Amino acid sequence: METNIDIISEKTKAVSEQKDQLAKKVEELAYSYGWGRRKSLNTALLKLLSTHSCEGRIQNALQNKETEEDAKFDSYYRKKSEYATVRILDRLKTLLSANGIEALIQTEAYSTVGRYDAVISQTNNKPSEKCKKIRIEIKASLGLDFEQLGRYLMEPSSLILIRVVTGQVAKLPITELQPYVSFTLQELIAKTDRLLTKKCYIVPGNDCHGCQDTMCIYKRNKNKGATKMGFITVSDNEFTNDLTSFLKNISFVAEKTASIVIEELTDSTQENTLLTKRGDSKC
Ligand code: SF4
Repeated sequence: METNIDIISEKTKAVSEQKDQLAKKVEELAYSYGWGRRKSLNTALLKLLSTHSCEGRIQNALQNKETEEDAKFDSYYRKKSEYATVRILDRLKTLLSANGIEALIQTEAYSTVGRYDAVISQTNNKPSEKCKKIRIEIKASLGLDFEQLGRYLMEPSSLILIRVVTGQVAKLPITELQPYVSFTLQELIAKTDRLLTKKCYIVPGNDCHGCQDTMCIYKRNKNKGATKMGFITVSDNEFTNDLTSFLKNISFVAEKTASIVIEELTDSTQENTLLTKRGDSKC
């Protein structure tokens, strides 16, 4: 009789196969447009695919080897994010040490789907692919990049999302979100197939802002709607409130994040049992 663990195991395997299938197609697409076979370029290509609805824009970007640059980030928010990362990791190191847990802590850690603010990995003499890994993404502003989140969910290891200003720390339920991840992967595979067979859909609208396709009849004025100011202005009150909330919440989010990481590293939950049973990797 099939148990819940077997069902979860099958779904995990299916998502992993979809991810491999997409990776192969992205590689094929990169190669067909002369992008070479560098892994970092495939990540850039994945971002391009999942950002735009207009496949004409993606095709044009592929032809011009134009990657999705990170939006010009106000240095105020960047500095806040970097500061919060240091404070959170300091608390984590103290708790790891107090609990006698050895772990590798990395910042700005690259993977096939993007770059994480921090990654904590077990270091317990197991092969690295068998080690537990926890990814941490820290947001210093109220905004949330759903495209980035969608890519991060494609990896099966634990993901903690922190929004410092609101004091929120969420450990995302990766297993529960598998149907969403599967849906996303399925549609990205279909989109890549359309690009490979040159049967693209042109979707004029939002994507036209900044599109470099000068031949398209929907091309808009290059500067229309441009918002690359590089900084955001706020009133004195808003600035004070933002700064106060940020600083007041740091110790709370650091404590909560560190506790979740410790729990994850010491945990022998159903998921671990399941992965061991399958002889699979969680990393
Ligand atoms: S101008 Fe607009 S419709 Fe035309 S390819 Fe670019 S994004 Fe698509």
